[in-house]
Amino acid sequence: MMNKRRLGQNFLISTRIARRIAQTAAIRAGDTVIEIGPGKGALTRHLLKTGARIIAVEIDPYLVQLLREKFASEQNLVIINDDILTQSISALTHQGNQTESVTKIIGNIPFSITSPLIEWLIHEKPFFHQALLMLQKEFAARLIASPHNKDYGKLSVIAELYFERKFSFDVKKNMFYPVPKVDATVIKLTVRDKLTIPVQNNAIPSFEEFLIHCFAHRRKTLLKSLQVSYGGKKSAALKNKLLGILTDLNIKTNIRAEQLTLAEFWTLFKHLDKQESL
Ligand code: SAM
Repeated sequence: MMNKRRLGQNFLISTRIARRIAQTAAIRAGDTVIEIGPGKGALTRHLLKTGARIIAVEIDPYLVQLLREKFASEQNLVIINDDILTQSISALTHQGNQTESVTKIIGNIPFSITSPLIEWLIHEKPFFHQALLMLQKEFAARLIASPHNKDYGKLSVIAELYFERKFSFDVKKNMFYPVPKVDATVIKLTVRDKLTIPVQNNAIPSFEEFLIHCFAHRRKTLLKSLQVSYGGKKSAALKNKLLGILTDLNIKTNIRAEQLTLAEFWTLFKHLDKQESL
């Protein structure tokens, strides 16, 4: 039996917002769009009006049945009953021996899958161009935050690495039924054709771990956080070494993690990685 509470089934009840989301996605006839979690089809209906081919992936078999009845006459809609996180874009879009080029991903994303979905998007980025996502407001704020913002953290830095991130608009919680606990935000992620810094894929896990250390003590300076992570808060030698590295890299020694850009984090990470002992 499916635990429906975990599926975040808060359905959009505003036609105006559904239309606005479809317009913001700027979908054209001939595009292929993957819709994540179509629910009862509030967004799907507007996406279909664009003339694009819609591949809608819904985990709940009851809703899939409902969608199949509702949109029985639609030639441009494929409904797939599955967990999006177990799917690949190439498998979803494979037709005969042809793979369509997917341009867009769209969805009103339940909170329970936001983090794994971002990982999924990063993994699948060669196969799509843009994602327009409605997310819980706080999560969206963390995803699109820039330096000097209280929401800026590991998630923002990693998202910045792979995507151009853009706020689109906020949606009040009473635009959904049942009414969720918090408001939502629509954001746009555009896959970068070329990364702005030369990151090797195999370095990403340790870079992410490094970012966790940097942001672990938000009120402390970066220097203090690094001292803690390298295990010697009281060691003068470690402190001097770290101070030297920050100075060499032209990074202010009293800086806090939330003030560093992606490029600065990466330079610092590579520099620390090269050190034989700290
Ligand atoms: N798009 C609809 C709307 O705006 O009214 C429904 C949005 S509702 C917030 C989220 C939808 O995602 C639900 O229909 C839920 O069953 C579906 N869902 C949850 N987890 C999913 C997953 N892992 N894969 C595919 N669909 C999922």
